[in-house]
Order: sequence, then structure tokens, then C-alpha cells
Amino acid sequence: MPDPRRTVPRTDAVLDDPRLAGAVRERGRDAVKDVVRAVQQRVRDGEAPASDAVDLVLAALPPAGTTLRRVLNATGAVLHTNLGRAQLSAAAVEAVVTAAGATDVEMDLTTGRRARRGRGTLAALRAAVPAAGDVHVVNNGAAALVLAATALAAGKEIVVSRGELVEIGDGFRLPDLLVSTGARLREVGTTNRTSLADYRAAVGPGTGFVLKVHPSNFVVTGFTAGVEPGQLRDLGVPVVVDIGSGLLAPDPALPAEPDAASALREGAHLVTASGDKLLGGPQAGLLLGDADLVERLRRHPLARALRVDKLTLAALEATLRSAPNPTRDAVHADPGALHRRTEDVAGSLRGNGIDARVERSVAVVGGGGAPGVDLPSWVVSLPARLAVPLRTGAQPVAGRVEGGRLLLDLRTVPPGADAQVTAAVVAVAGGRG
Ligand SMILES: *Cc1c(COP(=O)(O)O)cnc(C)c1O
Repeated sequence: MPDPRRTVPRTDAVLDDPRLAGAVRERGRDAVKDVVRAVQQRVRDGEAPASDAVDLVLAALPPAGTTLRRVLNATGAVLHTNLGRAQLSAAAVEAVVTAAGATDVEMDLTTGRRARRGRGTLAALRAAVPAAGDVHVVNNGAAALVLAATALAAGKEIVVSRGELVEIGDGFRLPDLLVSTGARLREVGTTNRTSLADYRAAVGPGTGFVLKVHPSNFVVTGFTAGVEPGQLRDLGVPVVVDIGSGLLAPDPALPAEPDAASALREGAHLVTASGDKLLGGPQAGLLLGDADLVERLRRHPLARALRVDKLTLAALEATLRSAPNPTRDAVHADPGALHRRTEDVAGSLRGNGIDARVERSVAVVGGGGAPGVDLPSWVVSLPARLAVPLRTGAQPVAGRVEGGRLLLDLRTVPPGADAQVTAAVVAVAGGRG
């Protein structure tokens, strides 16, 4: 064995290798040098042959600019919170790239003067929900609620049912968020039953608005009663409805899921929703409703702190203007087509000597949306020990482990990416799965 230290290639020799020219040009010599040093150490430690140095550097280079990795979501949760909720459509991705440089987000190119920020996005949202008198966009659903509470109820009361004081996830609770604005909560009814009389008794001169919150991540069944927004319209105070998921119009596949158009038609004065749940767009908070209320929100100083950037505006507009997107496709995927895709992937894997079976399964909307809705699906079932290598491999794939097997649900994978799932499994199973 020659002493590995003698064979360690020189830093400059590696950096000057033509195969690294692109990386050095795009990321800078220093960034690549850090990776070269790490590889030299592995050679010095006898972990890798010196002849592989350039290949090892290429493999170890982090993707340009971000430590975030592209993950194939095969969990069966369409909106996986830990995987960034909605996957953007190709049109939305293209729009983000267009807006990334200098863009006319606040300029009228005809006159050269300042123009309304994000006017194309707001017009698209208005067109998508004609029942809204006006619309506004902020950073996320929570920001939409904070803006409404601050502008309409600071120093006043928000009247809300005890059954709707929900925790969104990761310890964030809507009541805490609302109280942080300086509004006071006036809780009415009980966990399972709230009546119109409860609201009527609580509403008075100190009321900022009545809030209805869609319990988007749990279901209460049994002896329950609630009040529809339309019944609250005559109480003489604004009715704000947090629908959560961002459906703009009814979706027959999700009959229990509220939508903005219906809530407004039924009497809500203001609707708040997220952009990156069932709408399938970027993280954003949508506000739709009576023009005078929306104007009060827009003019509030806090609105400036909650405004969205040009990339969000671009992605949201593209999502609103083009019907298909990965979220909608996943929710509406035909089980028969899913079965065929799953059989194809499993067949290829078996052809590589991997223990891959096809099983029936159930996917969910996830991301705190449409609780209790089962989306019939199919999974490729694999040995559970592949779960970690698959998540940490060159192309990360996230599935779920159940009953001692790793299950990959293709409902949440864009159909064009099936071959990448197959390749990723083959790469980590080494043909011996
Ligand atoms: C998701 C959700 C929120 C929070 O929206 P974000 O966009 O995550 O800030 C608020 N209310 C309801 C009912 C939700 O479902």
C-alpha cells in the first residue's frame, strides 16, 4: 500500500481540472476549494482513491446557492407541511424566473411612472372570485388574520366560537395570534355547539368583528351545532371567515371544504385563506371581500410589513391564471391511472431484483386541509430499511414507513417524475433490495 498522503492531488491541480470549470465559474473558486479540501482529506485518510478526486468533488458540490434539496414527495400527503406544502406548477416556476431580475412590479412601462404593486396578480384574483368586491395579498394565512385583527379589531373584541380556537400546527395557536394584535377574544358557545343566540348576546359596541374559523385540521362529530356565515350577516358587525385552505370555488372532490366564493355569497364580509394549500400556489395570504374593508386593510401601516415580494406575486398570478397545478392534479388523480403508474414502477424495480410489491392505500390532502377526506391510492411497498438511504440519497425521495414496509405513493409525485423515483430506488438498493 503506498502512503495515501503522497498521492493526495494538489488543490490547484484539482481546481484547474476542466470538469470543474463550470462549477468554479458559477460558484467561485473559493466555494469549490472548500469542497476540494474535504475530498483531499478523504484521500489522505485512505477513504477514497486519489484518481476519484474530481468525481468526488463534483458529487459533493452542494446545489448552487441553496442547501435546500429537491425532494420527490411520495408520502401520500398532497400538501406535506415539512416538504413545503404545494408544489408550484411549471407556469408558476417560469413566472418566478421571469420576475427574478428587474421587473415592472411597480412600474407602468408605458408612462415610466409608478404603478400599483402586483396589479396583475390582484386582477387575476379578482377575476377568479367575482363575488369579492376587492382583494389583497399578504405573506401567509396567519398574516392575513393578523392584518384583519389589527386593522378592524385592535382594542376591540373579536367574537369567536370556542369550537374554532384552533392550533394550526407546530404550536401556533390562532387565539394567541389574534390576541397579539391587541384585540380581545370574546369566546362564545361550547366546543361542540354554538348558536346564533350565543353570537347575538356577545356582539355590541365593543365588537371589532365576528370571526368564523374553518376547523381545517380536525373533525368534530356527534352532538354538534354551528352557525353559517350568512346567519351572522345581520348582527351589524363585519363577519370575517378564515377558510384556511384557499379553495376559491367549490371542488366536488372535496365536498366538505369551504371555498371563498361560497363564503362571500353566503354573507362573509371578508375571507382569509392560504395560497400554498389547495389553491396550489406559493406561500401567501389571500384577503377577499367588501371593498371598504379591504381598503382599510391595505391602508393600515402593518400592511407594508406583511406585503409579498415580486416572486410570490409572479407565482400566485401564474397559479391563478393556469388551471392545472400539481396540487389539483394530485387531488383529482384517477385511481386507475395511479394503479398503472404504480405497477410500472414496481415492475421496473422487480426487474432490478428489488422486493417491490403493489398495494392499495389511502392518500390524504394533508397540510392541515380536508381532514377526514380519503383519497384512494396505490403504493409501491419496499423493504423499510430503504427509507433512510432514499431520503438522503442523490435524489431524495420521501415515503412513509407502515407495518415494517416503506410505502411510496405516486399520487403525490408528478407523473413525469416516476422514472426518477425508480432510478432513485435502484441507486440506493443497489439491485439487491
Ligand atoms: C393553514 C391555516 C391557517 C394559517 O395559514 P398559513 O398560510 O399557514 O399562515 C390559518 N387558519 C386556518 C383555518 C388554516 O387552515
